[in-house]
Amino acid sequence: MINTFMNSLMIDYDIIFFTIKQTDDIIKITYKNIKKEIVLKRNIKNNCFECISHQLLDDGYSRVKINQKGIRLHRLVYCLFHNIELNKIKGLVIRHMCGSKNCSNSKHLLPGTHEQNAWDRKMHNMTACGERNGSSKLNEIAVMCIRDNENGMPDDYYADMYGVTIDTIKRIKQGKSWKHLL
Ligand SMILES: [Zn+2]
Repeated sequence: MINTFMNSLMIDYDIIFFTIKQTDDIIKITYKNIKKEIVLKRNIKNNCFECISHQLLDDGYSRVKINQKGIRLHRLVYCLFHNIELNKIKGLVIRHMCGSKNCSNSKHLLPGTHEQNAWDRKMHNMTACGERNGSSKLNEIAVMCIRDNENGMPDDYYADMYGVTIDTIKRIKQGKSWKHLL
């Protein structure tokens, strides 16, 4: 099933109308006069949506150019899917709660400060050779994020995001699992 929606964003004083087509595995983003359609593909291992149409830059992010303005793809996707103007996230970083810079799954993205981002990175590095290797879908940063629940998201949101059961999320919140992080 294809889910299609449209959204507009203000980019360099122009309103750009985007069309987003989404299936379970592919997201396609276009707008008038686009040079190259933006295509994201779901990675079945972690539910991350990775860009397959544009090259990754040296900093590990995909970037698109709209109206001569270079925009990091995950920032664009965050705004399109959450219906937020790009200037509203100016000065904020869009954090990858999954730890994958190349991911543009709007559910894996959360706005935050540079300090939070630095902390995220530290946590991801710390856990890189630990539980992320095995079959566990959760890592320490995910657990912290679920416990903090800054945005007040329901349990099923996290269950869906990390591909685990609602019961697993509840146990984390209640401190019955991942006790060493309490
Ligand atoms: Zn992701």
